[in-house]
This record gives sequence, C-alpha cells and structure tokens, in this order.
Amino acid sequence: MNPLNSSRQHRVSHLVAAAAVAVLPMLLVGPVVVWQAQRAETRETQGEVRQTVAQLDALMDENLRVADRLLPLSGLKCASVARSLREQVAVTPSVRSTGLTRDGAMYCSSVSGADYQPLVLRSFAGGLLELMPGNRLTPDVPMLLLHRQRPDGYGALVTMDARYLQMALGVNNKDGPSCLQIGKEWLGPNLRTGQGRPPCLGPFSFHQASSRYPYTVAASLRLPSAYQVLWEEQSALTLLLIALGLAAGSGVYWLLGRPSSPVDELRRALAEDEFEPFLQPVVKPGQTAWAGAEVLMRWRHPREGLIRPDLFIPRAEESGLIVPMTRQMMRKVAQGLAREKLPPGFHLGFNISTAHFRDCDLYQECAEFLAAFPPGALSLTVELTERELLQVTPDIENLFQRLDKLGVKIALDDFGTGHSSLVYLQKLAVDGLKIDQSFVARIGTDSLSGHIVDSVVELAAKLGLETVAEGVETQAQYDYLTRLGVGWLQGYLIAKPMPLKAFVQGLRDSQRPSPPPLASPTA
Ligand code: C2E
Ligand code: CA
Ligand code: CA
Repeated sequence: MNPLNSSRQHRVSHLVAAAAVAVLPMLLVGPVVVWQAQRAETRETQGEVRQTVAQLDALMDENLRVADRLLPLSGLKCASVARSLREQVAVTPSVRSTGLTRDGAMYCSSVSGADYQPLVLRSFAGGLLELMPGNRLTPDVPMLLLHRQRPDGYGALVTMDARYLQMALGVNNKDGPSCLQIGKEWLGPNLRTGQGRPPCLGPFSFHQASSRYPYTVAASLRLPSAYQVLWEEQSALTLLLIALGLAAGSGVYWLLGRPSSPVDELRRALAEDEFEPFLQPVVKPGQTAWAGAEVLMRWRHPREGLIRPDLFIPRAEESGLIVPMTRQMMRKVAQGLAREKLPPGFHLGFNISTAHFRDCDLYQECAEFLAAFPPGALSLTVELTERELLQVTPDIENLFQRLDKLGVKIALDDFGTGHSSLVYLQKLAVDGLKIDQSFVARIGTDSLSGHIVDSVVELAAKLGLETVAEGVETQAQYDYLTRLGVGWLQGYLIAKPMPLKAFVQGLRDSQRPSPPPLASPTA
C-alpha cells in the first residue's frame, strides 16, 4: 500500500470523524430547543384561547342575566313591558336588543314594540345560542341571540352585538384573531360569518369549548420553524453550539491526527515524506575534489525542525520502519544524482541496519538503485554498523555474495566499537572498514587511540580492505591519517552533511580545476 495514499485516506477519515463530532451538539441540542420553543408556543396559544373563552363566558353571563331578568315579564302585554325591555338595553352595553317570545316567536321587541317575528328555535345551539349574520336594520353586523324559555312556552330573547364578541376574539391571540363557532355557524375576523370550517385556522389549530355555554373558540397555532427558533430567537445559543461543535471537531481532528506512540509518529512522518537524505562528502587524501559521499538521514519535522538521526533511527530500527525509510532515501538520492555527471569511481555509501539485511528486498533495492545510473558511473557501498548484532546465517552469507556479484561493496561502520568485527571479517565478503570517529577524535591526544587507528589501517592493508576515516575535524587528524595511508577521509574539516541540492552544487564546484589547496599531503 502506498503510504501517501493511506495517509490521505486517514486524513479524510479523520475529517469525517471530526465533522461528525462538530455537528453533534447541534444535532443533539438543536431539536430539543426547537421542540421546547414549539411547546412553549402551543402552551401560550392554549392559554390565550382559554382567556378568550373566559371573556366570552363573562359576556354570555351578562346577557343571560338580562334574559333571566326579563323572563318573568314574558306573557305580559307588550305595551306594559316595552319600557322594561328598552331599559335593559340601556343599562347593559353589550346588549343590542331584547324581546319576549311565545311558542317560538317574538311578540314584543325593544326595537319595534309589539311585533310578530317567528324564531327557529331548533337552530339554537343547546336551545340557548344562535349566531345570526345580520338583520333588516344592520345587515352587515352579525349578532348573537340568547334565548331563555320557561316550561310554559314563554321566553325572553337577548341579542348581542357581534362587535363585542369580535373584540374578545381578536385581542388575545398574537397569532391572529380566533374564531367563534356556535352550532354550524362561525364568526371570524372582520365580522365575517359562515358555515363549516372557520377561516382563521391554519395547518395547526387549537379548539377550546366553553364548559358552560354551547360554543367553541378555535385559534390557529403558528408553530415557529426550526430556522426561526435557532436563528431568530436563539441565535446566541446556536452560535454557542456551533462554536462548541467546531471546538470539539477540531479537538477530535487533532487527537486523531496526533500519533499515539513514537512509532506511529515515525509512520506518519514516513507517509508525509518527511525523511530527507543529507550527503556528506568523502575525499581522497590530498585531493579537494569530492570523490564520494555518505548518505545520512534527516527528519524534517513540521514542528521540531531538522532532527538528528540518532534520535529516531534506534526506534525506526526496533519497529522495522527503517527498511521503508532507507528505501525512500535510496529513491530520493537516485532521483537527485542520476542526471549528474559524477566523477569516475564516485563512491556512495548508505547506512543499512541489520533488520534490512534480513529483509528479502535489499538485493532488489540495490539493483534498482544502480540501474538508475549509467553502468559503472558509481560504486555503491552498504555500511553495516557494529552497533547491532547481525547473526551471520547462510541466508545472510548468500545475500552478501549476491551483493558482491552485483558490484555492491560492504563496509563495516564504526569499526572497532563493537565486538562482531572479526566474525564479519571472517564470514562476509567485506570490502572496507570505516574507522570510528571516536578513535579519530583522540588522535594526538592519547597514544592508545593513535595505536588503534594504526592497527586498523595495518589490518585493512593486510586484508586488502579499503579504509575510510570518519569525523576528521582538524588539520592534524587529516595529516596524520594521510600519512598513515587511509584511503578516504570524511569529516567536518572537508564538509558537513548537506541537503542533496547543496551537495550537487558542491560536487560541481569541487570538480572545477585548481581549487585552493585544502591541505598538503606531506605536511
Ligand atoms: P555514522 O554512520 O557513523 O555517520 C557519521 C556521523 O558522524 C554522522 O552523524 C555525521 O554527521 C557525523 N559526522 C561526520 N563528520 C563529523 C565530524 O567531523 N565531527 C563530528 N562530531 N561528527 C561528524 P549523523 O548524521 O548524526 O548520523 C548519526 C548516525 O545515525 C550515523 O552514524 C548512522 O549510524 C545513523 N544513520 C544516519 N543515517 C542513517 C540511515 O539512513 N540509516 C541508518 N540505518 N542509520 C543512519
Ligand atoms: Ca555510516
Ligand atoms: Ca561511523
């Protein structure tokens, strides 16, 4: 699997998880807030309608009292009671007219005196109330008829101006006027009357019947939409939820992206292509032209900056990640150098961990690396460190022989610091030794180190091995090693490890004729 692809997939899945967490507060709290707001709205409307019913009941009570006061007069001659009828109209504001009835017909009225007007008593809801669109005198003003009848067939009639009803219906409900329904008839906004479904009802409605009179008040219920609740009414809470969601989402994204262990962090860095080859030149004694280089890995960490290999290579070796990391190094170096004109016999060393020698692909990787260059353009060396123990099995011996046949050279790195050097020398087709910088550093300071360096060079000469001295920092070390006949020199005195591009430039510069002499081989 391509690590870059897998990292992209990881990032996408982390983003999806973070987005899911980010919308969670809104998804969880949003519906509750909307539900609460709608419930509050419903309760408010219910309260308003109850208030309307209470007001209408009070009006009905007033009119009923008038009817009850007139009821004993029913049956008397109209001329003797007409004045009382008019008096009741005068003292009760909501009463428009009064009348006395006999066997379902009005025989005496406060408006026209002795007059005979039949009533359709069965259309009175509950035998008590009827809504009338208007009458001869005021055809546009509906009225409410309230009829009380005695058991002997005599009765009293009170009519109420619908404008009083309208007032009670209109004032309470902030979502619009309510409607009054009596029997089949309704009284709606603007004194409109009709039969069937009242016009003031929207998709949601609320009905409340009076417990004392045969009528119902219906009100439309305008439930606020989720947008209205969350954005217009509760914008502060909504913004808080969004902010909380974003904070939680970013936190999750950060947590998911954060490597859970140093090895995970290495794996992430590998996928993010953060490892970079630095090259440190190697020269032959007395020459300034760079004759080769050692590839040294650096980690360009996005936060920590450039990280030294000794801080991460041990972990990479333990986890086996060193194998793909080295493979990546080889590819990058091949890409950077393949088109360069390299000096003849140019020599390039890679540090190869023991785990990599046990990996079956090393041979193939070396072959691919060499194939990137014209045949013979460069000599590839794999440096085997003494720090880790490599069990020399028949497979390993076989690998070294095959590498040898491929033209790959083997150098023992940090020679003299470990204890397996002699085993390696005996069993593996080793081509060279790298004298550890700890011995080089003490040249001239104590005689023992000087002797070790002398002995290593002597041993190498006897075994026909090449020698590279590492960590050459001073002219005295350079001169000493040169006198001793060391084959190659590497160290800060010549150049520090540098990025590939800088190395390519330095290599070109070092090949130019007559550069200033770096050191005299005989000095
Ligand atoms: P090494 O293979 O012995 O590499 C030589 C180390 O000495 C390098 O350290 C280099 O920068 C340093 N050096 C070179 N000249 C001088 C000098 O004049 N003075 C001093 N004081 N130091 C000098 P670096 O680059 O920090 O690497 C440390 C070690 O990490 C290497 O030691 C090698 O064992 C390991 N390493 C580096 N790159 C890789 C890699 O790609 N794969 C593996 N497996 N190990 C690597
Ligand atoms: Ca090395
Ligand atoms: Ca070394």
